[in-house]
Amino acid sequence: MKREKILQNLKKRYDVIVIGGGITGAGVLHEASKMGLSCLLIEQKDFAFGTSSRSAKLVHGGLRYLKNGQIMTTLNSISERERMLNYYKTLVKPIQFLVPVKTKSFRALMKVGLSLYDIMAWRYSHQYYDPQNFSMLIPSMGENFENGGYSFLDAITDDAELVLKVIREGVNEGGMAVNYMQFKEVVREKESVTGIIAKDTISEKIYKINAGVVINATGILADKIHNKVGKSEKLRSLRGSHLIFPNWRFPVSQAISIMHPRDDRPLYILPWKGHTLVGTTDIDHNSPLNEEPAITPDEGEYMLEALNHWFSELDLSKEDVLSTFSGVRSVVDSGKEDPSKESREHAVWKEDGFISVTGGKLTTFSLIAKNVLKEAGLSKKKDFKEKEINIKQDNKAEDNVAHDNVIDPLIEEAKDGMIMSLDDLLLRRTRIGLFSKDGYISKLPELKTKIQKILGWDDKKWDIEEKIYISTWNKAYSSKLLYNKK
Ligand SMILES: Cc1cc2nc3c(=O)[nH]c(=O)nc-3n(C[C@H](O)[C@H](O)[C@H](O)COP(=O)(O)OP(=O)(O)OC[C@H]3O[C@@H](n4cnc5c(N)ncnc54)[C@H](O)[C@@H]3O)c2cc1C
Repeated sequence: MKREKILQNLKKRYDVIVIGGGITGAGVLHEASKMGLSCLLIEQKDFAFGTSSRSAKLVHGGLRYLKNGQIMTTLNSISERERMLNYYKTLVKPIQFLVPVKTKSFRALMKVGLSLYDIMAWRYSHQYYDPQNFSMLIPSMGENFENGGYSFLDAITDDAELVLKVIREGVNEGGMAVNYMQFKEVVREKESVTGIIAKDTISEKIYKINAGVVINATGILADKIHNKVGKSEKLRSLRGSHLIFPNWRFPVSQAISIMHPRDDRPLYILPWKGHTLVGTTDIDHNSPLNEEPAITPDEGEYMLEALNHWFSELDLSKEDVLSTFSGVRSVVDSGKEDPSKESREHAVWKEDGFISVTGGKLTTFSLIAKNVLKEAGLSKKKDFKEKEINIKQDNKAEDNVAHDNVIDPLIEEAKDGMIMSLDDLLLRRTRIGLFSKDGYISKLPELKTKIQKILGWDDKKWDIEEKIYISTWNKAYSSKLLYNKK
């Protein structure tokens, strides 16, 4: 549905309004719409603008949670992983993980952990390889395998594409979703919340929208917004940063999990869209939350230190990094010294007519959505039969395709509607901006007239958008961020 048409529909009363177009909000829109509830989702920037386009891309059970004794978290995540592998076949794909084993005791621990992991999924996927065979699986790792290693199965996706897919499914079930619409304040009658005031950030127009229930799914901003209505728990913002390498420079064909030699934290190396993705750090994020998060030189050095420990023959350096990106998660602050020890469970806070949800995982978005709707006391108005709706094929402009072919997918994507800026197009609807050293900026002149025609942008609008894109890319995605040591 065109944006103007959606804006005309804001006069009606909705059963549910969802604030926030990340995976959590998308999941709530989809689940509520499946229940036959009228549901509107608003997002202040682009869909998946927040953490949900900046995750490590894994749909996983989380071996780490198992290690911490969080059995239910692992079990729920694994069953969701299995459901998504089955349901989103083109978007969530199985991936084999390889883990080198450092010591004999670690090997024994892995055996128990991976057996449990497989039992929970009702599948047998893990396997032990002796040093010689394991080195054939990761030739670029050299001689680091005196105790061999394990392989096991998990899954990988494009997080932003998943958000879009879930939103489209919600819309297909009768829901509405509009981007560049910012929540401002709640509307109350007596003690209850009965709607919201929102601002269209394109036209600056203000809307009053009525609803039975308002669900706040604004990620790291959820506590700030909740505190306008009631009282939330204290949240802690943790940043995880990533590096993207060209595959020819850092060739991997399976996912690899390594332990950092400095602190034994796990890092992931993933083949993603023809490139190699490395992540993540896990540190307190003290920058303003309304700015796009960005990697620091220290984080880059930390990850390169681990890569050069395990893959010394490759001699990787900052020079080899194509781009970087960072995501910020919210966790309930229990004051733990080590950020990685804070619980990753989602949190829900309730007031009359206003529910907030934050935290959790991309993998468990559907369970989180169901939980929130239950907490909101909403019951279904219709029965829904599960089926995969093939609204749009998910073979997006991939990465290492030739430049001429890249232009075509970009144009196809631009026609899709609801694209308001160049970073919507280059960083989320496609990931083209992540896969070149200059964020595709030098190629923008070739794109200009074609995109202007589709989006109806005159030269002035193009110039503004180009400037914003260049500034965003330099501040939050460029590999130059690895050098700016203060
Ligand atoms: C580094 C990192 C790696 C991760 N890796 C994984 C992984 O591999 N697998 C996994 O399962 N999970 C992973 N996670 C967790 C997962 O990414 C998050 O739990 C999930 O993306 C959070 O989604 P969300 O919708 O709650 O928040 P967000 O995606 O941040 O969405 C919130 C949205 O609300 C919008 N918003 C804010 N204020 C307003 C307003 N006033 N009006 C309208 N809209 C507003 C924002 O613009 C934003 O788009 C990772 C997290 C991090 C930080």
